[in-house]
Amino acid sequence: MSVEPVLIVGSVAYDDLELPSGVFNNTVGGAATYSAIATSLLHPARVVGIVGEDFDVKTLDQLRARSIDIDGIERAKGKTFRWRGRYAADLNSRETLDTQLNVFAHFQPKILPNAQNPEFLLLGNIHPALQLHVLQQVKKPRFVAADTMNFWISGEPETLRKVLAQVDLLIVNDEEARELSGIFNLPKAARAIQKMGPARVIIKRGEFGALLFDEAGTFFVPAYPLEEVVDPTGAGDSFAGGLFAYLARTDQTSPQALRKALFFASAAGSFCVEGVGPSRLLSMTKDDFRKRLTSFMSLVDYGAQLDLP
Ligand code: AMP
Repeated sequence: MSVEPVLIVGSVAYDDLELPSGVFNNTVGGAATYSAIATSLLHPARVVGIVGEDFDVKTLDQLRARSIDIDGIERAKGKTFRWRGRYAADLNSRETLDTQLNVFAHFQPKILPNAQNPEFLLLGNIHPALQLHVLQQVKKPRFVAADTMNFWISGEPETLRKVLAQVDLLIVNDEEARELSGIFNLPKAARAIQKMGPARVIIKRGEFGALLFDEAGTFFVPAYPLEEVVDPTGAGDSFAGGLFAYLARTDQTSPQALRKALFFASAAGSFCVEGVGPSRLLSMTKDDFRKRLTSFMSLVDYGAQLDLP
């Protein structure tokens, strides 16, 4: 087993969340934060990001206590990145009310010398030029995954193409996959994205699970059917963190491993949405996680072969 931490680059933030259950200001957030917390359940993580002078040192201590290396989180003069979102009553859609880049506007990810040889690298949703800048600073990792969003797909298509040419896996949601490929049908969209570079594409579909397209074919993992969803913020990032947790912990990247990792990903996402911000991810124990994996198995296990009667 490799003990090299999973390298995660992305936002560290304060979020103001308007949820049906109430308004929660100053919630610790950011894509890299969610991913690292999920990864750290099984494997050390290392975050490269930026915070302002207002970021609570206790939060950083809390991350460090969970085997998350935070030496690559730069503390800069100014305020931490802040995002405000409002969710619809059914939590299935949200609106960004405000994005204050603050110190994030000048973010130039610096990979410290001891972090330049990662086996597993997760390029969170940041400007594709910065994703490229990270790739230039590291020795070729064994496995690189990238996330992106509509803003970069439409605004920086050429730079994004350069990133795609260098990654092993792209993780996007259905809307992003459609926009990137210009194709509505998801299997066809995935094939088109694979031609841009990544041999594997994961398309997340929120409460409808996720699809993996790779050299071994197509695979589906359900989302766990929860009775109560509190806050979907960070679910996708926790999903990516859970995926890397399994791959790094088992030191594998085979199609079989990726299929198993998808259950860890979906389980991590399901815990994330059970609490406001990363609260439930932080309180979840290994035993909780184990139980959820067992429930996942029973979701699709009906005890027989699928034969034509
Ligand atoms: P998700 O719900 O998976 O989209 O992730 C939400 C997290 O992403 C929040 O904690 C935000 O702080 C962060 N976020 C929102 N907008 C951006 C952005 N433009 N760039 C980077 N991170 C963002």
